[in-house]
Amino acid sequence: MLFIDNEWVDAESGKTFETVSPIDGKADVEKAVAAARRAFHRKSEWRQLTASARGRLLHRFADLIERDGEYLSTLETTDNGMLYAMCRHMIHGAVSTVRYAAGLADKVHGDTIPSDFEGFTYTLRQPVGVCGLILPWNGPIGLFVNKVATALAAGCTMVVKPAEQTPLTALALAALLAEAGVPRGVVNVVNGYGPTAGAALTHHPHVAKVSFTGSLEVGKIIQQAAGASNLKRVTLELGGKSPLVICDDADLNVAVPYAAEGVFTLQGQVCVAASRLFVQSKIYDEFVKRAVEYAKKRKVGNPFTEGNQNGPQVDEEMMNKVLGYIEKGKAEGAKLLTGGQRIGTTGYYLEPTVFADVTDDMTIAKEEIFGPVQSILKFETLDEVIDRANDTNYGLAAGIFTNNVQTALQFSNLVEAGTVWVNNYFTFEPRIPFGGFKDSGIGREKELSVKGYQRHTSTHVGKM
Ligand code: NAD
Repeated sequence: MLFIDNEWVDAESGKTFETVSPIDGKADVEKAVAAARRAFHRKSEWRQLTASARGRLLHRFADLIERDGEYLSTLETTDNGMLYAMCRHMIHGAVSTVRYAAGLADKVHGDTIPSDFEGFTYTLRQPVGVCGLILPWNGPIGLFVNKVATALAAGCTMVVKPAEQTPLTALALAALLAEAGVPRGVVNVVNGYGPTAGAALTHHPHVAKVSFTGSLEVGKIIQQAAGASNLKRVTLELGGKSPLVICDDADLNVAVPYAAEGVFTLQGQVCVAASRLFVQSKIYDEFVKRAVEYAKKRKVGNPFTEGNQNGPQVDEEMMNKVLGYIEKGKAEGAKLLTGGQRIGTTGYYLEPTVFADVTDDMTIAKEEIFGPVQSILKFETLDEVIDRANDTNYGLAAGIFTNNVQTALQFSNLVEAGTVWVNNYFTFEPRIPFGGFKDSGIGREKELSVKGYQRHTSTHVGKM
């Protein structure tokens, strides 16, 4: 089932898979882009709306997400395996993000600039046009609203392609947008595989911008496709191998739980997962002992059951990928202190896993594992750890626990990461820009993304 022009439609190909997605999405992408293009016409209902009216629509959308929070959370847990309690938390985050975008809709404006000639110059911000928004499976509701709410605030129209593993909540959210009063064709959802439906979007000459969240590998393909078709603008939110540094003056009662949550939350299927944990030598042994105790106590099981802290990995393929990394860790000499196994034979549950004595050259310290695997490395000095933290092609997030403000600021300024957390980890503010350095991406979401969905027009007004 797809959602195009504010209506439920069957896939042109008639082909479906388990979660009802078309196998060849090309024809559907054509239809959806055409609908988005009609909705972007200068005389369309959408284009006649004022910026503040777009803001009001977004507030109505936020009200509806609040109203349907339970239903959306149930859908997300079923589709993705995310803890139900976590989904409820994400719903609050999604509502804040939509309300923030609603408030921004009428506050993004141009400048008036003095001229060297007669008259004056002004710049106007205008929506870029039809956007292709391609989502991964690991946080479907949150990622949908990050992209869609800001693109709507900017005045764009769009075609959303969720990940094939998790197509359900995007459809439900698109229906809520229609209920909120967003006109036909403004938000369309096409489910399908990346190399077909996704590629059709990135190659489409009438798509003006692609915003993609997903792997580095696919991000590279998308950037090429965007350049080869019509010079699309591209925002890329990609993977990470984020360093978390625990200095010897840190409060371990705080740092141990944060470090664990930083890599075990959502079963480690998080782009900003604290997947390289650097611990200073003086506290190393004590920290490792406590980290193992913490991991052993973590409750893994049915994500709908209250009290469980980890659910299953998203599918068998991802589970096996994580198990493969654990085998590599062992083979390359890391010390496995707890976990490392699948739990049971139904569902894709993994034990929270802790490796100590990990070194920078090991595969588990270099590649994104996307699973509940904590890799602990030892360091001596701040200077040394900054270089080691930066010795990666990624640059999405980083964190530090220290009681010394100078150490915290020095690290924050020198670490190559789009987000840095000091004495906390994983706090997501709807109001701050989010994105990566280096291979973690191009562009920013949240605040700046409203502008990212717009273009500048500079106008010189002559003698009047
Ligand atoms: P993925 O790159 O495999 O897929 C993401 C999306 O791209 C899916 O919708 C997929 O269908 C589509 N796609 C695949 N091939 C395509 C192609 N050739 N053309 C167009 N679209 C294509 O990623 P995933 O496995 O779904 O998600 C996990 C990755 O996402 C991890 O690397 C993770 O770090 C990253 N991620 C990043 C952020 C962030 O904000 N930086 C957030 C969440 C996830």
